[in-house]
Amino acid sequence: MNDLNVAKFGGTSMADFTAMKRCANIVLADSTIRVVVVSASSGVTNQLIELCSGECDRPARQAIIDRISEHHRTILAEIGNPAQAATTLEQLLGRLNATAQQLSEGCTLQLADQILSFGELLSSTLFSEVIRLTDQNCQWFDARTVMITDSVHGSGEPQTAQIASAAQANLLPLCQQNIVVTQGFIGSDAQGNTTTLGRGGSDYSAALLAEGLQAQNLQIWTDVEGVYTTDPRIATNAYAMKEISFCEAAELATFGAKVLHPSTLWPAIRQNINVFVGSSHNPTNGGTWIKQQVDSAPNYRAIAVRSNQTLVTVSSLSMLHTHGFLARVFTILAKHKISVDLITTSEVSVALTLDSVASTNGGLAQVVIDELSELCEVKVEQGLALVAVVGNKIERQAGVSARLFNVLSPYNLRMICFGASSHNICFLVEQAEANDIVCSLHRELFEQES
Ligand code: ADP
Ligand code: ASP
Ligand code: MG
Repeated sequence: MNDLNVAKFGGTSMADFTAMKRCANIVLADSTIRVVVVSASSGVTNQLIELCSGECDRPARQAIIDRISEHHRTILAEIGNPAQAATTLEQLLGRLNATAQQLSEGCTLQLADQILSFGELLSSTLFSEVIRLTDQNCQWFDARTVMITDSVHGSGEPQTAQIASAAQANLLPLCQQNIVVTQGFIGSDAQGNTTTLGRGGSDYSAALLAEGLQAQNLQIWTDVEGVYTTDPRIATNAYAMKEISFCEAAELATFGAKVLHPSTLWPAIRQNINVFVGSSHNPTNGGTWIKQQVDSAPNYRAIAVRSNQTLVTVSSLSMLHTHGFLARVFTILAKHKISVDLITTSEVSVALTLDSVASTNGGLAQVVIDELSELCEVKVEQGLALVAVVGNKIERQAGVSARLFNVLSPYNLRMICFGASSHNICFLVEQAEANDIVCSLHRELFEQES
């Protein structure tokens, strides 16, 4: 293990000069932070996605590029317009403009990745300059030279062994002498094409670099003071936890706690790297430590919620007392790269919830429905959300689930998954009731006097 920390700052932490200055102070105050991973300034990735959406004509595209340019030039002016950074910024904006001209021919996922990468390239250029106001040795580093992925544009799969050896060879020597500022979210495939890791992917980038560098800690600086008992935007009484285990945090991230990209914990778990989550707005207020070993293992730790779930029910009388039906259903889903989240079965039907990424307008691509229909009846429902209660030994103690069902009695539970993991119980509910359910569960589990 190397005695260094990787720190990641999200979009709101890069929102403007004041926010960047706060983050620079965090980095400069902690000499163990050697690698800094940043997101695009908040709102910029959304604007770049709009640019690529096909819903913009040429003037609308130009207006978006002008807005993005103005935003970054304003930050540069507040830094004091250093000449070298001004040149780099104008080069990046020029390249964004030129690349966006190709959108008049339509947008491919490959072109979208190129365009999205400018968000992080711009913010990291400016943030390294903000650090340089105090520490001249700060180095900007192109993450694409180490963040090697496959060629699936829009959700590149990081190649962990290659990332680790590139990080050891290129990044480690550099960060021993300098603070290195690099981009989250973006990578490159074996041919050198720019790729991205999927929305919110900067957390994952930072974790992969921490793994590759065998860092001691990974610090995730965001807009909340740690991992809360549930999303504080949904339940105002939610509170930050002092510590949670890797398993608990991985479940929360998987089931929708946006504070961590779903894959963030895996590199940390592989390399046993402690993860700290704190607020860049209030860095001295503490935060949450995510570790392998924690002091307590309560039955209920936190609640996560994930919107826009698709429920697919496949039914066939020929399933009765036969074998191979499930295998055939899953073969079709696997062929179309559809990942299944939850599953329940009855005598003649199987209900599955799908990863929202796999869903299209109708919830499931028609071609998949057609193939499944050759095998069985297919029903697709939308407007659902997944609520997950995360904790420990949930399946092993009398009364643990009963307490949840008491709270949930007024609501329609479309599907329940329980028993496969000690760490969660999941409910598929009506989207319109999801926030109420989260608040009711939170009141019962985390706001009662003990
Ligand atoms: P960043 O831009 O720093 O990556 P995100 O917006 O991706 O920040 O994630 C932070 C947000 O995650 C918070 O503002 C909060 O609304 C949301 N969130 C959801 N669940 C949780 C949770 N359990 N704890 C803390 N924040 C959560
Ligand atoms: N900028 C990217 C996004 O908005 C990645 C990130 O912020 O983590 O999804
Ligand atoms: Mg995020």
